[in-house]
Amino acid sequence: MAEFDMIIRGGTVATGSDVMTCDVGISAGRIAALGLDLGSADTELDASGKLVLPGGIDSHVHIAQPSGPDIVQSDDFESGTRSAAFGGNTTVIPFCLQQRGQGLRQAIKEYHEKADNQCYTDYGFHLIISDPTPTVLGQELPAAIGDGYSSFKVFMTYEGLALTDEEILKVMTVARGTGALVMVHAENYDIIRHLTAKLEAEGNIAPHFHATSRPIPAEREATHRACTLAEIADVPLVIVHVSNGEAIEEIQRARARGVKVLSETCPQYLMLTAKDLEGLNMEGAKYVCSPPPRDKPSQDACWAGIEQAIFDFYSSDHCPFRYNDEKGKLVPKGRTSFRWVPNGIPGVETRLPILFSEGVVKKRIDLSHFVRITATNHAKAYGLYPRKGSIAIGADADIAIWDPTLTRTIRHADLHDGCDYTPYEGIEVTGWPVTTIVRGQVIVENGALKARKGVGSFLKRGKSAFVPD
Ligand code: MN
Ligand code: MN
Repeated sequence: MAEFDMIIRGGTVATGSDVMTCDVGISAGRIAALGLDLGSADTELDASGKLVLPGGIDSHVHIAQPSGPDIVQSDDFESGTRSAAFGGNTTVIPFCLQQRGQGLRQAIKEYHEKADNQCYTDYGFHLIISDPTPTVLGQELPAAIGDGYSSFKVFMTYEGLALTDEEILKVMTVARGTGALVMVHAENYDIIRHLTAKLEAEGNIAPHFHATSRPIPAEREATHRACTLAEIADVPLVIVHVSNGEAIEEIQRARARGVKVLSETCPQYLMLTAKDLEGLNMEGAKYVCSPPPRDKPSQDACWAGIEQAIFDFYSSDHCPFRYNDEKGKLVPKGRTSFRWVPNGIPGVETRLPILFSEGVVKKRIDLSHFVRITATNHAKAYGLYPRKGSIAIGADADIAIWDPTLTRTIRHADLHDGCDYTPYEGIEVTGWPVTTIVRGQVIVENGALKARKGVGSFLKRGKSAFVPD
């Protein structure tokens, strides 16, 4: 009888702290041994010349999220997690949206109905709190946190989602009492409403005015305010999708005051600019997301934030809408202004190859830094560590095997999501995940799907490593 279920032989294994050449022995879905010349296994994978990395954890994705009347996201949990797996991810943490007037319990039930038995990767849910009623704050939210939904997001903008500062303080107070981690979408709602009305009155309704309507100061001010609210409530917080240097300055100023601020950036802020929204007719809608992509100095500031480890997380903010579709970016007839273009772009499959190529291959960051901001830090922050996020004895065998020399041109035709475009079409990258393994099971191998949907499990998450006891 073989000693292990699987051995991955001879690869360069990298964790968030170390790089070593060794075999990885897997039994019963977990990493059982790391060593040289491990014995026998039922399945052997040759990883010589390859990298063996912890599977990516994408802690910021939106899948099958209600997005307003007549608008439909282009991924369900099957296609979204399939695309994630092809992109070298083994865990995703999508958002479970509480709609106004809806209880949290009901929202959670609906998301499980959408996700359970559909996924190719493991998954958890962050909650989005849009309606912090006394029942939600006093009963449903504390209960949900105890049930493994140990992080939640609040919005400072968006119709139907924006909370007042007082409401944000109330939900932060629940986090203070329960050890949950709060994520904040930081943009100033009134600035955006004011500029949107002004632009429309002037007849400026093309997609690229989306970026004009949400300028850097709107994000900078809200970032400052979110940090201040967290300071008052005495909780750590995550500022998600940081797009520019002025917001980064606010994060660093808050950290200097002693506020525990974690921060995230995304591929769109490293690779795109507001210029991309200026395509002919509706083409610019393919790049409409919030905060919007900015300018070259903002890109440089975000790269510096990656290089200097100011950012704890690099996530996709995958939020896909089909382009050539009236339920997506072309929006129902009669809604002619940029204000109606659904906010969000796809990116769960291209997140890791883009950072590997632009970051590791171009020597902006080393391999362990790559692993930290794409997996380990996500696991630690969102209550999955040490089960997820590393290659260590006893951890789940969630592994992506990379060919670091494989050069590919990103084409939507080669991706596996439900969308009809990628904002990164035509970009050449070096390094690609060729095999994805979830809890010891091969999900993707050499471009082919090897598992059935439903192999991914729901993850009941514990307390964040960044929330004090
Ligand atoms: Mn957001
Ligand atoms: Mn988002």
